[in-house]
Amino acid sequence: MISTAEHGIEGYVGSVMLKLFIDEFAPRLNPEGTGLLLVHAINPWGMKHHLRVNPNHVDLNRNFVFDGDFSPTINPDYELIETFLNPQKPVRPLSQEAIPFLMKVLKNMIRPGRARVQAASLLGQHRYPKGIYFGGTQVEEETAVLMKLYQRVLDEYQHFVQIDIHTGYGPREQMTVIIPPLDPTPSSQAADKFRYPLVQKIDADEFYAISGDMGEYVYRLRDANYPDKQVFACGFEFGTFGDSLPQLIRSLRITVLENQLRHYGASQPQAEAQVRAEYEELFFPSDQTWREKALRDGRQAFEGILAAFGLL
Ligand SMILES: [Zn+2]
Repeated sequence: MISTAEHGIEGYVGSVMLKLFIDEFAPRLNPEGTGLLLVHAINPWGMKHHLRVNPNHVDLNRNFVFDGDFSPTINPDYELIETFLNPQKPVRPLSQEAIPFLMKVLKNMIRPGRARVQAASLLGQHRYPKGIYFGGTQVEEETAVLMKLYQRVLDEYQHFVQIDIHTGYGPREQMTVIIPPLDPTPSSQAADKFRYPLVQKIDADEFYAISGDMGEYVYRLRDANYPDKQVFACGFEFGTFGDSLPQLIRSLRITVLENQLRHYGASQPQAEAQVRAEYEELFFPSDQTWREKALRDGRQAFEGILAAFGLL
């Protein structure tokens, strides 16, 4: 299974990767023993409007809650920084937002501290419907469609491999293959197995922790209902701004401002245009060199993963 645009705006790189797969790898699969499921644009509304979220402002990769318990208390640290992450006023031009934002970042890096701010902002939450990384309070329509597909593939197939395409996080110069913590293979072993230089577990040590992650859901579903089946669900995460501290701050800033724009509008049209342009750059960089490297990384990782599972 190849899937794209769980975060709508990331579906533009997703569609390129899907085309790469269809052109260069699909013809090499053996149809006798291999089925192929392509899900282009899990979140088509978000893709059309160049947003990560779905029409209900839900981050779908925080919405795959296995036990159906959308507990508002999963992320207590989020409350400490909620007003910092979710200002309730129209967004101003970037030149006016930059310094106040940096001041707030510095204040929050002292208390509650950088690690907690980063972890709490990215984990997901079910409490603030207008906040960033809102995971919803029920299973969203797009999520339900995927959950049914997972059930079907695990009913019908003994061995399931998924590659889900994302952009925005991680080093700019090297795409990261991310695997859920429930996968038993350590990331260094996985890197050897896939002949790919950068593989990370989706946890606080290596990447960052996510609650309601789609890949994690696949493992939980298998463990609960299909214990004799084999699953591997990974993501390709194409880093864009990069992972230095200034770039992490820049990425958090535009995440906050875009969310603010969606809920409270802009003080002037120029502010909206700037936020849109910066947000686009975070998920679909315009730089030709970046795009060419992304293609090379995608090709290398497809080759390594599909070969490792004996699919080519
Ligand atoms: Zn994503």
